[in-house]
This record gives sequence, structure tokens and C-alpha cells, in this order.
Amino acid sequence: MWIVAAFLAVAVVLVHVAWQKRFSTVVALKDEELAKARAQQNELAGKSQAQQHALLNSMVEGLLLLDSDGKIQLANHALEKLFGITGNLQGKTILEAFRNHELAAVFDRLKTEQRIIGFEIQLSEIEPRWIQVNAATISESGNGASGAIFIFHDLTRLKQLENTRQEFVANVSHELRTPLSMIKGYVETLLNGAKDTPEIAEKFLNIIDKHTDRLTFLIEDLLTISKLESGQIMMNRTSGELRPAVEKVVHDLQTRADEKSVRLENRVPPGLSVDADFDRLEQVFWNLIENAIKYGRANGNVVIAARETQNSRVEITVEDDGPGIPPEAQERIFERFYRVDKARSREQGGTGLGLAIVKHVVQGHGGEVWVSSQPERGTTFHFTLPQK
Ligand code: ADP
Repeated sequence: MWIVAAFLAVAVVLVHVAWQKRFSTVVALKDEELAKARAQQNELAGKSQAQQHALLNSMVEGLLLLDSDGKIQLANHALEKLFGITGNLQGKTILEAFRNHELAAVFDRLKTEQRIIGFEIQLSEIEPRWIQVNAATISESGNGASGAIFIFHDLTRLKQLENTRQEFVANVSHELRTPLSMIKGYVETLLNGAKDTPEIAEKFLNIIDKHTDRLTFLIEDLLTISKLESGQIMMNRTSGELRPAVEKVVHDLQTRADEKSVRLENRVPPGLSVDADFDRLEQVFWNLIENAIKYGRANGNVVIAARETQNSRVEITVEDDGPGIPPEAQERIFERFYRVDKARSREQGGTGLGLAIVKHVVQGHGGEVWVSSQPERGTTFHFTLPQK
């Protein structure tokens, strides 16, 4: 009997030991799996956070996330660039980070107005930048408290284009109104009796004729520039010799040059060819040589030259020995309607668009145009074209 009891006792102990061993293996296995799963989860969370950051930082718009206390949780790269901020913004308030009361006030408004608030802010007075901001609340999970999201969109370029457009319209209206009111004034004077005195009538009619020409040139130049700027003019490029093209324009402007005793000299070497739209190229030469005559000195010299440069290009120059262009004006003369001396340009029949047309045509050929000038020594316009 005691043998059976002893045998049973041993059996129970053995079964217990076996169970314990199995159990501890299972527990060990579970721990390992759990740790693995946790590591995987962490890795995934890390990856998705990195992806989120990469996504937010690749945005063109600036983005700002605030918690319910108004502390910054996240600011992307575009936002830092927009405001020129370098340090870490996390944990700061809007006021601390941007020193902008308008933005801070919007965060306060969001607490009561549960809607998207859109507004514009202007940064920096010296070099103004305009930014469109849209702000909205976001609910933080669980606790019902709400943070906020701000999206910033840079409007500076759009505003600048809008200003340029408005300026252009104002300039065009002004340029059109001036000759029109002159014409109207002289016609009224003629109608009020001046027509009965033949010499006065002829003088006034000549003035009217001059202003009508000015209007015609202005409208022609406006149409050309608008077509050039909108890309409507296709450059009809052919390979051809440069010297005869210059010769033609010199010939056409000879009378104008003679009136001021200006000597025109074509020094372009024979045989030098370019790849260009020759009708447009003649317009470039016309504008530059006519300017050299108009703004150069009486009894002066105008020289047109050309030479091959590196990269299969030809550099062409139109040089005069006139009064020159002041350095501060040299940067601006290719702008539409910019004139150094407004009265002089108008008196000479200038539209203020000649050099803007030159710039567009040259750039339309893939070339560059620039000016070098020394007061009282003269002015040289340079431009490049692809060689044949
Ligand atoms: P405009 O119709 O007034 O001539 P442009 O665009 O052709 O218009 O020229 C712009 C301005 O640049 C002119 O009003 C003039 O003040 C200046 N300018 C152009 N060419 C010369 C030059 N060769 N010498 C001095 N000033 C020049």
C-alpha cells in the first residue's frame, strides 16, 4: 500500500514539475512576443511621425499647430522661412514666437467663434510681404479641450503683380490722355476762331498732327509689348547675316541723324551671322539707334559693332557719345514707361516702351541685354544673340 502511495506522490511531483516548466516557457515566449510587438508598434509610430513631419515640411504653405493653452506644438519649415525664424518654437505662445498681436488676437477669438477665420496680414514695412492666414479650432481627443491650426499662404508675388498691373493701366491712361487733351485743346481753339488766321491754323494743325502720331506710336508699341508679354508673337527665326540688317536701319534713320548732325557708323564685320527673327531684330536696332540719336549729343557719333563671344554667341553694341545715363536709372530703363527725363522723352515723341520691347525681343531669342554708361562720356547698349 505505501508503495502505491509513494508512487502516486512521485507522479504528482513529476507532473507538477513538467507543468511548471511548460508554463514558464509559455510565459517567456509571451514576454518575447509582447516586447517584439511593442518594438514594432514604436517603430511604426516613429515612421508615421517622420512621414507626417516630412509631409508637413514639404508643404508650400506655412502651418502652425497650437494646443488649448495657445502653446506651439508644431511649426513647419515653410512657416519658419516665411517669418525668418531660426530657433525652436515649441512651447512658445504666438506672441512670444512672432511678436504679432493680430495673430494672437485671432487665437483668442477662436475660443468663442467656432468657425474658420480668414484674414490678411502685412509683414515688414520696408520690404512689405502680404500673407493670407486661415485659422480654425481643432478638438483634442478625449478631454474636449480645443487647440488651433493656422495655415499661412504667401501673397507677396500676387500683390506685386497686381500693383504692376494697376501701375501699367494708370500709366497707359496718362500717356493716352496727354496727347488727346492737347489735340482737343488745339481743335477747340481753331473752332473758336483761330482757323480764320491761316498761319495760326497751320501751326496748330501741325501740333495736332504731331500728337496724333504720338498716339499712333503709343498704340503700336502697346500692342507689340502686350503680344510679346503674352507670348503671342512667335519668333520666326532664320539664319542670316547681321551687317545688312544694321545697314537697312541705319539707312532708314539717316535723315533723323542728319537733322542733328549725328554720324552713324556700321562696324559690324561682314560675314557674321546670327540665328534670329530678322523683323524683330530690326525693331531692336531701330529702337536702340533712334534712342542714341534722340538722347545723344548733336554732332555726336553712334557706332554699331558686333563680335563673336564664347558659347556660340554674338555680342552686339550700340554706342553713343552723349550725356549718358545716371547709375541709379541704369537699372530701371528697361521697365515699361520709365524715363530718365520725362519731358525730354515726350518732346522727342518717345513712348517709354522702346527699351522694354528691346528686352522682350532679345530675351525671346534666349539672349541678354544690358547697358553701360558714364555720365558725360556716353552710353553703350549691349545684347547677345545665338550665333548661326
Ligand atoms: P522712350 O520712348 O522714352 O525713348 P525708351 O524705353 O526707349 O523710351 O527709353 C527709356 C529711357 O531711357 C528714355 O526716356 C531715356 O531717358 C533713356 N535712354 C534710352 N537710350 C538712351 C541713350 N542712348 N542715352 C541716354 N538716355 C537714354
